[in-house]
Amino acid sequence: MISFEQIFNAAPEVEASAPGRVNLLGEHTDYNEGFVLPTAIPQQTRVSIGYSPNDRHHFYSANLEEGVDVAPSKLVPEGFARYLNGCIRVLEEAGHSIPPLNVLVTSSVPIGAGLSSSAAIEVAMLRGLRLLLNLNLSPVQIAQLGQQAEVRYAGVNCGILDQMAASLADTDRMVFLDTRTLDRQILPFPTGTKILVIDSGVARSLASSAYNQRRAECEAAARALGVKALRDISDPQATETLPFPLRKRARHVITENNRVLKVLEGVSACAFGELMNASHASLRDDYEVSIPALDELAGILQNTLGVFGARLTGAGFGGACVALAIASEVRSIAKKALARYTNAGYNGKILVG
Ligand code: ADP
Ligand code: MG
Repeated sequence: MISFEQIFNAAPEVEASAPGRVNLLGEHTDYNEGFVLPTAIPQQTRVSIGYSPNDRHHFYSANLEEGVDVAPSKLVPEGFARYLNGCIRVLEEAGHSIPPLNVLVTSSVPIGAGLSSSAAIEVAMLRGLRLLLNLNLSPVQIAQLGQQAEVRYAGVNCGILDQMAASLADTDRMVFLDTRTLDRQILPFPTGTKILVIDSGVARSLASSAYNQRRAECEAAARALGVKALRDISDPQATETLPFPLRKRARHVITENNRVLKVLEGVSACAFGELMNASHASLRDDYEVSIPALDELAGILQNTLGVFGARLTGAGFGGACVALAIASEVRSIAKKALARYTNAGYNGKILVG
């Protein structure tokens, strides 16, 4: 890939990176102030930053082979530069003064596959700015600023899950996160297990409109039940008074939160896998964000020897499935499952494993 020197004719001042993430349990719970359980994936996004020789920011993505120049006072209307410029803007709003910059992004995180390349770019950029400007920012503050950048400057109404995962998680452990309090615990994987991720090959076309609709349904359900957020309810029976489809939406969120909390008690690989399978069924039947390709892929994974459990991961309507499998056989398991998925007529791809 192209280097910083090739684009900007100078060496960068600083470099920083952040990983993509996959969520193991706790899907569509973060905007309900609930619980999530992500881990980092090996793929990273790297940001190299230098000072601009003129009065404009210059942003370049090696992945997109695209450069964008922006005057510091201007907003970026579309495209990848919104994420980078957004990080600069939220820091400026927090009172920091940022000079015009040259920024190169290079990433191995698949873009738009549900592995959160957007949070990786934000967290890498903010880490780079922290280093360049010697800012005093904690990992949690970095995550919060990244989320603000995405919400306010990229126009994506996301929760805090992705940025907290990119900022706090590593590939060997899971992060239990309470998205209301931001309390967190680092947990080991069940002994002898590893994750694998397979892309369904189906792009998440309906994802953003359906996401906004599900959010609105959850808010309506919380209002009808008299609570601030669905996180405040732990008994799924409480949903019985709600009309459809709110009843099903709320039931997913409540049971999903309970599944994440169950992991905190310490569970075996088999029990963890069963929670993942139940999560997929709940996303399919109650939250209705699955599609035939994801059901097929999750089903194949669940029925492959050596897999403890599998589910769709990310918002749904396409994207990837994650599975927990025997560590020593992850690669061969992923290949076997992919071959069966291909035989079923789909065009999948191993992303992790
Ligand atoms: P996801 O976060 O699941 O990968 P999103 O739609 O939230 O998908 O974010 C993808 C967007 O993030 C891209 O369309 C692009 O604007 C930006 N992005 C992420 N990584 C890069 C990169 N390496 N180069 C340029 N833009 C990127
Ligand atoms: Mg994203």
